[in-house]
Amino acid sequence: MRPSFHPRLVNSPFDDPALFIPFLLQKRAVLFDLGDLHALAPRDILKISHVFVSHTHMDHFVGFDHLLRLFLGREKHLCLFGPPGFLTNVEGKLSGYTWNLVQHYTNTFVLEVSEIHPQVLLTRHYRVQDGFRPGPALQRSTFDGTLLAEPGLTITAAALDHRIPSLALVLQERFHVNIRRDRLDALGVMPGDWLQRFKQALFCRQDPASVFEVSARFGRGRTRAFVLGELAAQIAVISPGQKIGYIADAVYSPENIEKMLTLVHEADHLFIEAAFLDQERRVAREKFHLTARQAGEIAGRARVRQVTVFHFSPRYSSGELLTQEALTAWRTWQAAAAP
Ligand SMILES: [Zn+2]
Repeated sequence: MRPSFHPRLVNSPFDDPALFIPFLLQKRAVLFDLGDLHALAPRDILKISHVFVSHTHMDHFVGFDHLLRLFLGREKHLCLFGPPGFLTNVEGKLSGYTWNLVQHYTNTFVLEVSEIHPQVLLTRHYRVQDGFRPGPALQRSTFDGTLLAEPGLTITAAALDHRIPSLALVLQERFHVNIRRDRLDALGVMPGDWLQRFKQALFCRQDPASVFEVSARFGRGRTRAFVLGELAAQIAVISPGQKIGYIADAVYSPENIEKMLTLVHEADHLFIEAAFLDQERRVAREKFHLTARQAGEIAGRARVRQVTVFHFSPRYSSGELLTQEALTAWRTWQAAAAP
């Protein structure tokens, strides 16, 4: 199976948190946390449609300016989500610059910023031509844990305790569509952009009896029409969707553990902070962070299939012990949970 999402940490585990999640064969990506982005190529940054900021401590939010600078002058609608106070944080960033030359920009760059409260989302828009002055309407909508719901995927969040709210995040693909290359060959059709349209048709529950046009090289400009359901039966293999979890700064408390286990249950890949070694769990608790062992335990108890630890304290000269400690705890819990 070729996964639809290929998450990768932008920086080393000692540097700022930012998880870049590009979508297979699409010029699109989402970003969990917004630390320093200089290690990410501009062409990748420009793919980002949604940014989810766990909390606005500097190391998780300092990449905002870099992102803004790249998008300026382009046609773009960028959605950002963050914890309580996020609108003020973004407005503070935007008001740090002078915008007297942007009224005549012909491109429309809009920031759609949402602040997440326990049951409410507050959303405001900021347009480049208005010099990013706050849009007049503050929209209120109900928040039930889901931040983004598209036909093919959802992104959900849970607020953890980091002395301030810190959002843990999950991207869940609804189901996975694998294309059988051998069947494409047998039908005499080439893979191409139409495959994205085909997958969307399945995600959107388009009528299986409807006609689906495949526009792939049958000579110049020719297309072939199929019945959607019949084509799907021939070329598509449907399997459970991919699940990616992200847990940044949080204290190891019963309430947090409960929320983390529920949110990232059986994730295919969990990215979780491991700031300290467990022998320093007292320091970790004081600073409202996880130890490597605690991170591994969460991953094991949640039965995640792959785990990556990050956000190591600069007090360690190497990350080897932190990684080892987390992986040992993960495997111990996996073994304990095995039937
Ligand atoms: Zn942090």
